[in-house]
Amino acid sequence: MTPSMDYKIPFNKPAIMGEEMAYIKQAVDNGHISGDGPFSKKIHALLQETFNVPKTLLTTSCTHALEMSAILLDTQPGDEVIVPSFTFVSTVNAFVLRGAKPIFADVRADTKNLDETQLEKLITPRTKAIVPVHYAGVPCEMDAIMAIANKHDIAVVEDNAQGLFGTYRGQWLGTFGAMSAVSFHETKNIQCGEGGALFINDERYIERAEILREKGTNRSRYFRGQVDKYTWVDIGSSYLPSDMLAAYLLAQLEAKDTIFEARKHIWHTYDQALCAWAEEHAVEQPFVPNHVQQTYHMYYIVLPSLDVRSRLIEHLKERGIVAVFHYQPLHLSQMGQQYGGQIGDCPVTESVSDRLLRLPFYNTMTPSEQNEVIEALQSFNAW
Ligand SMILES: *Cc1c(COP(=O)(O)O)cnc(C)c1O
Repeated sequence: MTPSMDYKIPFNKPAIMGEEMAYIKQAVDNGHISGDGPFSKKIHALLQETFNVPKTLLTTSCTHALEMSAILLDTQPGDEVIVPSFTFVSTVNAFVLRGAKPIFADVRADTKNLDETQLEKLITPRTKAIVPVHYAGVPCEMDAIMAIANKHDIAVVEDNAQGLFGTYRGQWLGTFGAMSAVSFHETKNIQCGEGGALFINDERYIERAEILREKGTNRSRYFRGQVDKYTWVDIGSSYLPSDMLAAYLLAQLEAKDTIFEARKHIWHTYDQALCAWAEEHAVEQPFVPNHVQQTYHMYYIVLPSLDVRSRLIEHLKERGIVAVFHYQPLHLSQMGQQYGGQIGDCPVTESVSDRLLRLPFYNTMTPSEQNEVIEALQSFNAW
């Protein structure tokens, strides 16, 4: 793919939203730029207070937070993990790394989220975890998912990469499952280039999470004065981001209201401006249920066919505009097929992934840039 900065209107554009540069300088001046420095501590406190979660831990990525969750659940070879086929590879790879077998669920045609009505039939005695993904920051049907998980005593890990600050029936996303994983990758609403966080709602996992994240040592307890030397106590890895990244991230979190206002406006502008056009050409617009608060993470449309989508991408490209498709069905990927995935297993995923198109969307998008995208869409006539 051509780098998007070669185009007039890129798909995504990470932007400074506040005190990022000042805070990075401060982090350097603090003389503590490794992990869990002053900025990381501020973020942990802020997230725990905002979301009323017993423990949050910054990680180097959402992928790594998911990997931690797979270890914390003691995922073993032969265990099964239920994931939507329509998601990013890390949702499932984190568990496959522990030897788990992916079981792919189809998604709902309206929200593109894990279809909770098809969940129960995928459960077996080997099911270790269910990993719902709040696609586009629109919440999954958490009441139904949690009821099924609780009935069968199966852990839920929310892949909340896109859903931070979203709510389902008034409850924060990321606070339903035993754990959840957030992404602060530069393509997300709030970002620091590469970063993530693990939210731990079930307190049983807190102590081991700290150990895993600190290379398998009890260093966190040592720093709290709970043990007089630190040592190797478990498996583990290095999942702490530098405090320079935390400095950047804190500034983004502090600018959260500005970021969400901007994104909300862009989302609704697309939705209203494209309404008549979409109806005329049988283009589907996003569906957001009334009982949820979405995060305005993306604006997508679903076109009548793969063919139309390909032509529309070209049409936009000729006008300097980058619009991109999204996940290819995981069950039909090279790896997915090795686990037995076949065409027809997840019909909604297969159909949607061929036809979904994401429009340019970033915090600093100007009204005139957005108008250009809308006019370019409306001028497309190769239906
Ligand atoms: C972005 C994303 C990830 C991966 O996040 P990283 O921080 O890049 O590891 C995982 N799952 C979903 C649904 C995502 O959107």
